[in-house]
Amino acid sequence: MVIVKSIDELLEATSTFKGSVGFVPTMGALHEGHLSLIKKARKENDFVVVSIFVNPTQFLEGEDLEAYPRKEEADVKICELAGVDVLFMPTVDMMYEKDELSITAPAIRGFILEGTKRAGHFDGMLQIVMKLLNLIAYNKPSTFRAYFGKKDAQQLVLITQMVKNYFINVDIVPCDIVRDKDGLALSSRNVYLSKEDRVRALSLSRSLKRATELVMQKEFNSSIIIAEMKKVLSKVEVEYVALVNREFEQIDRVELSNTIILVAARVGTTRLIDNLWI
Ligand code: AMP
Repeated sequence: MVIVKSIDELLEATSTFKGSVGFVPTMGALHEGHLSLIKKARKENDFVVVSIFVNPTQFLEGEDLEAYPRKEEADVKICELAGVDVLFMPTVDMMYEKDELSITAPAIRGFILEGTKRAGHFDGMLQIVMKLLNLIAYNKPSTFRAYFGKKDAQQLVLITQMVKNYFINVDIVPCDIVRDKDGLALSSRNVYLSKEDRVRALSLSRSLKRATELVMQKEFNSSIIIAEMKKVLSKVEVEYVALVNREFEQIDRVELSNTIILVAARVGTTRLIDNLWI
C-alpha cells in the first residue's frame, strides 16, 4: 500500500493504474462499517483508493470538528490489511484555498431533515466529495466506482444527484449499513457514548425494528408508523422520524421497495442517525 499525503503524489500513484478503480472516501477512525465498503471495493475493482480527511467545511459552528476521533495509526493498519492500494491523507491546506467557489445542496432534498438540522453541512460535504471524485477521475480510469454507506442516506442521495447534475464519470455504489451485534449502527461517533447512553442509543435501531414489524403487518400509514417509533424512542431526544421515498420526498404511506425510514436523535451529547431501506 502506498500512503500519499499530497495531490501530486496521489495523481502520480493513480497514473499507474490499468483497470477499474474503487474509491472509498472517509473521515477516518475506521470501523467495520468503513471496512465493508473497502472490502466491496476490493472485490469489485482492480485498484482501491481510500481517503481519510476530516473535512472542516461540513462541520457547523459548535460541532465536533476538533474533537472528531482521529486514529491514524490504526487506520493505516486496517487499510493495509484490507488490501488498499493507495491511502490518501491530505491536509486542509491542500484541499482548500481561502476564497473558494461553493456548491449548494438542492433546495428541496438538501433542505429537509439533516439539511435543516445541520444547515450548511451538505454544501461542505458535496464540495469535498466533488473534489475527491475529480482527483480520482483525473487519470481517467477505465471504470470508476465510488462507495458510500446507506447509513448516511440523504448524503448518498445528494451525491448521486450531484454526479448526475455535474456529469461526473463515476458509478456511485450504495452499501448496506453495518451494525453491532445488538443492532447499534456503527459510527465513528459511537465512541462518545457513555455506557448508559450506549444502552439508550439502542432505541434507534429498535424503533426501526418496530417499523419493520408494522410494515410486515401491512401497516403502511406513515403517521402511525412514526407515532409507534416515537414510543420506542421515549428515552432519547428525538430530532426527527420520517418516511421518504428514494428521491427523498416525504411520503404519507410506505411504498414497498421505494421507502427509507429515518431517525435522528440526541443521546446525551451525541447526535446519532439511523435508517431502514424498504
Ligand atoms: P465517514 O467516515 O463517517 O464520513 O463515513 C465514510 C463512509 O462510510 C460513508 O459513505 C458512510 O456512509 C459509510 N459508513 C459509515 N458508517 C457506516 C455503517 N455503519 N455501515 C455502512 N457504511 C457506513
